[in-house]
Amino acid sequence: MREQRPIIELLAKDGPVLSVEFFPPKSQEGVDTLVAAATRIASRKPDFVSVTYGSGGSTRDLSVAVSQRMKNDIDLQVMPHLTCVGSTKEELKTIIDRFHRDGYRNIMALRGDPPEGQEAFVHTEGGFSYASDLVAFIKSRHPDICLGIAGYPEKHPEAPSMESDLEALKIKADAGGSFITTQLFFDNSLFFKYAEKVRSRGIQIPIVPGIMPVLSLKQIKRITQLCQSRLPHPLESQLSNVESDPEAVRQVGVEWASAQIEGLLANGVPGIHIYALNIARSAIELIDTARFASR
Ligand SMILES: Cc1cc2nc3c(=O)[nH]c(=O)nc-3n(C[C@H](O)[C@H](O)[C@H](O)COP(=O)(O)OP(=O)(O)OC[C@H]3O[C@@H](n4cnc5c(N)ncnc54)[C@H](O)[C@@H]3O)c2cc1C
Repeated sequence: MREQRPIIELLAKDGPVLSVEFFPPKSQEGVDTLVAAATRIASRKPDFVSVTYGSGGSTRDLSVAVSQRMKNDIDLQVMPHLTCVGSTKEELKTIIDRFHRDGYRNIMALRGDPPEGQEAFVHTEGGFSYASDLVAFIKSRHPDICLGIAGYPEKHPEAPSMESDLEALKIKADAGGSFITTQLFFDNSLFFKYAEKVRSRGIQIPIVPGIMPVLSLKQIKRITQLCQSRLPHPLESQLSNVESDPEAVRQVGVEWASAQIEGLLANGVPGIHIYALNIARSAIELIDTARFASR
C-alpha cells in the first residue's frame, strides 16, 4: 500500500500537483460505481484525490468508506475532507485519530455547509464554529497531518466583505493550514486577483485553483447558485446554444475548463484541483490537458 505523504511535500516538487475531488454516493451500491470511476482516473496518475464529507450521518460513513477503498484498493494518495457540522469536539477527535491510525497524513479541514433543508450553519454544542478551530484542533493532536483549507476567489457567500473573508483565511492559515484549495470559478482573472489579495495579507502558503467542468447546464446553475460562483455570460450562452444536446454541453464545459487550466498553468499555479463530479471521462481529459500544458 502506498505511503501517504503530506501534500505540502508534493507541492514543493517541480511541476503542477494534479488532484481530483470525489463526493461519496448516497448509498452503498453507488460505492462500486465510484470506485470504478476512480480506478479509471487512477490510470492517469493524479498526485492525489480527495473525498468530500457530507452533512448527514450515512454520507459521512460512506465518505470514510470511499476514502479507505481509494487508499487501500486503488493505491491512491487520499485526502479525506472533514467538517465541523453536527459534531462535538469528542466526536471529531475520534474521527481524526482514526484517520491518523489508518495512515492518512492529509485532511481538508472545513467548517462545512449546513445539512439539506437547513438555511445556515448552526454551531453544535461542544463543537466548533469555524474551520480555523478545527485546523488548530487537528494540529494540536497530530502535528504531522498536513491540512488543506478552503479559499473563495469570489468571497465566501456569508462573509460581509472580501476583506473580512481574507482576515478569516489568515486566521485559518496561521492556525496550521498548509495550502489553500479554492472554490470553483470560471474566470481566471478572479483567481489571479484573489491570489494577489491573499499574498498582500501576508498569507504565503500555496494556492491551488479548483476547476469544475460543466457537464450539464441545469446542474451547474444549481451548483453556482449554492456557492455563488459566477457563470460568465459567454460560457452561459455557449451552453444555452447547445442545451438540448448533452454531449455538446459536455464538450463546451470541458473545453472551457481546459482553457482555464492552460491559462492557470501558464501563470505558474502550483497545482490544479479538479472537481470531477464523479465522472471519469471529463476528469481524464482535464488531467491530460494539464499534463500536456505543463510539459
Ligand atoms: C475546496 C473545498 C472543499 C469543500 N469540501 C466540502 C466538504 O467536503 N463538505 C462540506 O460540507 N462542504 C465542503 N466545502 C464547502 C464549505 O464547507 C463551505 O463553503 C462552508 O460554508 C465554509 O467552509 P470553510 O471551511 O471555508 O469555513 P470557514 O473558514 O470557517 O469560513 C466560514 C465563514 O465564516 C467566516 N469566518 C471564518 N473564521 C472567522 C472568524 N474567526 N471570525 C469571523 N468570521 C469568520 C468566513 O469569512 C466565512 O464567511 C468545500 C469548499 C471548498 C472550497
